[in-house]
Amino acid sequence: MKEINAADFEQEVLNSGKVVVDFYSTECPPCEAVAPKFEAMAELYGEKIKFVKIFRQGNRELASELGVSSSPTLLFFDNGKQVTDTISGGIKKSEIQERLDKMLSIEEVTAIKANHKAIVSEYDVAILGGGPAGLTAGIYLGQAKIKTVLIDPALPGGYMGITHQVSNYPGFDQPQPGFMLAHYMSEQAKHSGIDFKVAVDVTSVDLLKKEIVIDQLETIRAKKIIIATGTTPNTMNAPGESDYKGKGISYCATCDAKYFVDKEVTVIGGGNSAVEEALFITKFAKKITMIHQFDKLTANQTAIETLQANEKISVMYEHEPRKFEKCGDKMITTLENLKTKEISTLESDGVFVFIGFKSNVSVLGDTLPKMNNWGYIIVDEDMKTSIPDVFAVGDIISKKYRQITTAVADGTIAAITISKE
Ligand SMILES: Cc1cc2nc3c(=O)[nH]c(=O)nc-3n(C[C@H](O)[C@H](O)[C@H](O)COP(=O)(O)OP(=O)(O)OC[C@H]3O[C@@H](n4cnc5c(N)ncnc54)[C@H](O)[C@@H]3O)c2cc1C
Repeated sequence: MKEINAADFEQEVLNSGKVVVDFYSTECPPCEAVAPKFEAMAELYGEKIKFVKIFRQGNRELASELGVSSSPTLLFFDNGKQVTDTISGGIKKSEIQERLDKMLSIEEVTAIKANHKAIVSEYDVAILGGGPAGLTAGIYLGQAKIKTVLIDPALPGGYMGITHQVSNYPGFDQPQPGFMLAHYMSEQAKHSGIDFKVAVDVTSVDLLKKEIVIDQLETIRAKKIIIATGTTPNTMNAPGESDYKGKGISYCATCDAKYFVDKEVTVIGGGNSAVEEALFITKFAKKITMIHQFDKLTANQTAIETLQANEKISVMYEHEPRKFEKCGDKMITTLENLKTKEISTLESDGVFVFIGFKSNVSVLGDTLPKMNNWGYIIVDEDMKTSIPDVFAVGDIISKKYRQITTAVADGTIAAITISKE
């Protein structure tokens, strides 16, 4: 694998046969999550396809010429021509592999796959999810000398890792960057002696058999499973949203706000995360228009007052996006006024969507534990679910307050319960 700059692009990419390019940024958790997958793919496909990395912040002109407006973005070239679609954001290993396979002949792909060898590993406990809940369970289990593996398709840290400032986690007199808290917690979990299998694809989960398959080739068998898979941001499902994801529409201010210096931005949402993230974006953008479906913001009062005092932000109440389009570099959001039904358009340089979350249960296989009406897992006071030897902790469980402190508490309870059984 090679790191190159814009000056080398023609020689190293356009005149170099089959090449895959990773445009990455610093302080970008999805970029860090893609890096080990990219390396693993380079090892596997390296003889047939060249793997190249380009630092986007240092090569902005090239990135914009190629239409790259979000990090990470992967582009695939064959003899100077872009082949297959580009992928960006939270990229799965299987998404990269699928595109690499398309660049080769069936015989070449079969030969590469033959090098994959199936592996089976045995553990006392498998933790699904490396956010604060899963990491804390890992720390306690590791210190209790229980053979544990922590599995995450991303890098450890969960939402904590992409929150720009955390001011309410006890033990720090000043607000802490979320990625630092994530770093401290995951280092502490590693030092406790547990195994990490992160930035992997979770192929399947069988909660009854306690079997998890990762990257389609490694089977992990455990005596107990802790589910700590958290939540995923909701999407609007408006036409154009999936087309412009990573190409004008973002769900991560920490990752992408820095590309909107002196630009105009649209923020969809009006709850706590929308308000907090809009305030963060004001550090870069010159104007932010928030689109909110209700006639009042639904965030906490202090955040609302801070937002209202910020001259860069205005709110369009009782409006909802109906369509996203692109005109040149501009994003055009078509809006409906929910009161008058009038349709209007709003032009901006980028759109950020923060409209709540859904629980990550879809990955947990066919037999799921008992859940509440909103899809959150019901647990008892020991964090046990309705399935024997399956625990659930953190944002994924049915509870009133979803915070780092409450996630950490859940992880503690599950781990101590397991270590005393
Ligand atoms: C924008 C924002 C700001 C916030 N600010 C604060 C704050 O200031 N203070 C505070 O206390 N709380 C804050 N929160 C809430 C806090 O981040 C969450 O309550 C906390 O992170 C929940 O921890 P968790 O471990 O349950 O889940 P998460 O942090 O969501 O972690 C879940 C993990 O599971 C992984 N995962 C997903 N699917 C799978 C799978 N199939 N298999 C394995 N792993 C999987 C994910 O990659 C992720 O790493 C904020 C949340 C947001 C969204």
